[in-house]
Amino acid sequence: MSAPPGVLRDHPLERLTTVRTGGPADWFARPDSEERLVELLAWAGSEGVAVGVVGSGSNLLVADAGFRGLAMKLDGALATIEAEGRRLLCGGGARLPQAAARAAREGLTGLEFGVNIPGTVGGAVKMNANAYGGDLSRVLEWVDVAGPEGTERREPADLGFSYRSSNLRAGEVVARASFVLAPADPSEVKATLAGMRAARREAQPSGIKTFGSTFKNPEDPRAEGRSAGVLLDEAGCRGLAVGGARFSEKHANFVENTGTATTADVVALMAEGRRRVHRRFGVTLEPEVQLLGEVDASALWDDPDVSAS
Ligand SMILES: Cc1cc2nc3c(=O)[nH]c(=O)nc-3n(C[C@H](O)[C@H](O)[C@H](O)COP(=O)(O)OP(=O)(O)OC[C@H]3O[C@@H](n4cnc5c(N)ncnc54)[C@H](O)[C@@H]3O)c2cc1C
Repeated sequence: MSAPPGVLRDHPLERLTTVRTGGPADWFARPDSEERLVELLAWAGSEGVAVGVVGSGSNLLVADAGFRGLAMKLDGALATIEAEGRRLLCGGGARLPQAAARAAREGLTGLEFGVNIPGTVGGAVKMNANAYGGDLSRVLEWVDVAGPEGTERREPADLGFSYRSSNLRAGEVVARASFVLAPADPSEVKATLAGMRAARREAQPSGIKTFGSTFKNPEDPRAEGRSAGVLLDEAGCRGLAVGGARFSEKHANFVENTGTATTADVVALMAEGRRRVHRRFGVTLEPEVQLLGEVDASALWDDPDVSAS
């Protein structure tokens, strides 16, 4: 099968993720315009090739065997940030902390929650990312979603947002997004960002290879309001390691690659954490991290110990 010009073969994905594990993609491209993105999606559709988007790879676990499909990372005109009055127009590949900082410089408030989320605008929409009580759907005006037939505009009400999820399917790519923000004093917004950065430095480990929260915070009443991190900690997971993967000493819901971790190590560690929490509290933790490629997650999903009740 011949791919469109500029599509690379067997491209490593490990360095495109923040946890730095996983194998190569069979095909890889960096579309830098909407036309090019749609062209690539149409090619993949016509050849029956699976499509995966990599944003900042900050919530992504790639299979050790890699991805048998076309992985894409948005670039150029699909990664820009432009201010137009009270609107911030962002490419799906624009980085959310940069969008938050740009909004502050423009004297616009509403996107501050993005300052510590090390992902892209597209990844944030897909994951319904949030922090500090901010709300993506409150400031999001629309997204342009690309597919093999072209681009379609959708509003927040069409995106099926719930806790850390949206209804975007694999192969639907957020090409652009518009945020409508409120005018504010730039120095006040900048001060809020500085405060949020400082609070984050206190609460979370920095300078480690991780994909942030491993599990979602459970709604199960047996958790008695405790976060996934607290449950993992109380179940004895803080510092627990499998191969090169370890639950962080500073934040038990963060898995850290201590240098040699494979995705298989990470999955085995997650399975052990999930098992311990289930045994101790009866609570079943659900992964927040997204998988790309054939990750053998049977240890996570088919654990008789966990699925028994
Ligand atoms: C240190 C650290 C702290 C974090 N803190 C937070 C936090 O406070 N709150 C929070 O919500 N999250 C947090 N995260 C998780 C992560 O940053 C978010 O989930 C983020 O939104 C993921 O964006 P990304 O671009 O990195 O997506 P990726 O990890 O690259 O991908 C995640 C999913 O989104 C899809 N995707 C990516 N781009 C697009 C696109 N353009 N169109 C369609 N689908 C796309 C991918 O295919 C994949 O399914 C943290 C992560 C780290 C490492």
